[in-house]
Amino acid sequence: MDTIEKVKCLIIGSGPAGYTAAIYAARAEMKPVLYQGMQPGGQLTTTNEVENFPGYPQGITGPEMMMELEAQAKRFEADIRFGFINKVDFSGSVHKCWTEDGKEIHAETVIISTGASAKYLGLPSEQKYLLSGGGVSACAVCDGFFYRGHETVIVGAGDSACEEAHYLSKLCTKVTMLVRKDDFRASKIMADRVKNTPNIEILFNTDTVEVLGDDLVTGAKVKNSVTSEERIIPCTGFFVAIGHKPNTDIFKGIIDLDETGYIKYAQPGTSLTNVPGVFVAGDAADKRYRQAITAAGTGCMAALDAERYLASLEH
Ligand code: NDP
Repeated sequence: MDTIEKVKCLIIGSGPAGYTAAIYAARAEMKPVLYQGMQPGGQLTTTNEVENFPGYPQGITGPEMMMELEAQAKRFEADIRFGFINKVDFSGSVHKCWTEDGKEIHAETVIISTGASAKYLGLPSEQKYLLSGGGVSACAVCDGFFYRGHETVIVGAGDSACEEAHYLSKLCTKVTMLVRKDDFRASKIMADRVKNTPNIEILFNTDTVEVLGDDLVTGAKVKNSVTSEERIIPCTGFFVAIGHKPNTDIFKGIIDLDETGYIKYAQPGTSLTNVPGVFVAGDAADKRYRQAITAAGTGCMAALDAERYLASLEH
C-alpha cells in the first residue's frame, strides 16, 4: 500500500494538449504529474517545421516546440516524467492508474491527452523519408506549404485524403491521388470535389511499391493491381492519408469511445468524459481538426474543467 502515490491531477500524454494542460494545472497549484508516453512530445516530433502555430513568426521545428512547451510546464513545477500509463481503473471515486513498471497512482483528476497516431503504409522507403524529413508526411495542412509549385502524391480514398488532396491542389502544380480500390470510401460530395479539380489526377486500383529518391523524395513507383503495370510518378512530396488510430486502447470499456475508438465528450463544448473527474484533450477525442493549436486549446479547457471539478468537491 505504501507504494501508492496520491496526486491531484494526472496528465497522460505529452503533445501540445498534455503540456498545455500541465501549464494551466501547475499555475492553478494542482501540482500536476504528467507521463510523457511512448513518444515524448507526440506526433509533432515527426514534423519538421511548424509554421502555423501562433507566436512563432519564423516557424519552429516540431521537436523544438515540444521542448519549449515542456520547459514552460516545468517552469511552474509540473512534474514531467518519462514513462507511460498502461492500465486504469476508474470504477471508484479515486481514479487508479498504473505505470508500465507497476507503480500505482491514485488521482483526484485525470486528463487524457494520449493523442492519435497516423497510419502509414509501412514500406521501408516511406519510413526512411518520414524519419529523415525528406518528403513523406501524414499531414497536408502541416507540410503542404513546403511543396508550393511542386508535384505531390497522396495515398488514400477517405474524406481525409480528399480534403488533403484538395488542399494540396491549391498549392501544387499537380496532385496524383492513389486509390487502392476501384472507388472512393469518401462521401460523394468530397469525392466529387476531388474529381472536379483539374490538377488532381486519380489513379484507381493503384498500390505504392516504393517511395523513390536520394536525400529527398523524387517520385513514387506504383503498380496497377488489375493490370500489374508499374510506373513512376515524379513528386517531391509523398502524403499518406489512410486514417488515424486514437491511442485509447487502455480506456476501452472504461471510458465511452465512439465506433472508431475516439473518446466521446459527455457534453459538447467541454472536456468532460462520461467519468466524473476524467477529462480529455487533443487528438484522442478529435478526428476533425487534429492541429497543434486546437490540441493546446482543449488542453487548457481540460485543466480548467479539472480545477472546477476539484473546487466542486471541496464545497
Ligand atoms: P478512413 O478510415 O475513412 O479512410 C481511410 C482510407 O485509406 C480508405 O479509403 C482506405 O482504403 C485507405 N487505406 C487504408 N489503408 C490503406 C493502405 N494500406 N493503402 C492504401 N489505402 C489505404 O479515414 P479518414 O481519415 O479519411 O476519415 C476518418 C473519419 O473522419 C471518417 O469517418 C471521415 O468521414 C471523417 N472525416 C470527415 C471529414 C469531413 O467531413 N470534412 C474530413 C476528414 C475526415 P479503402 O477504402 O480501400 O479501405
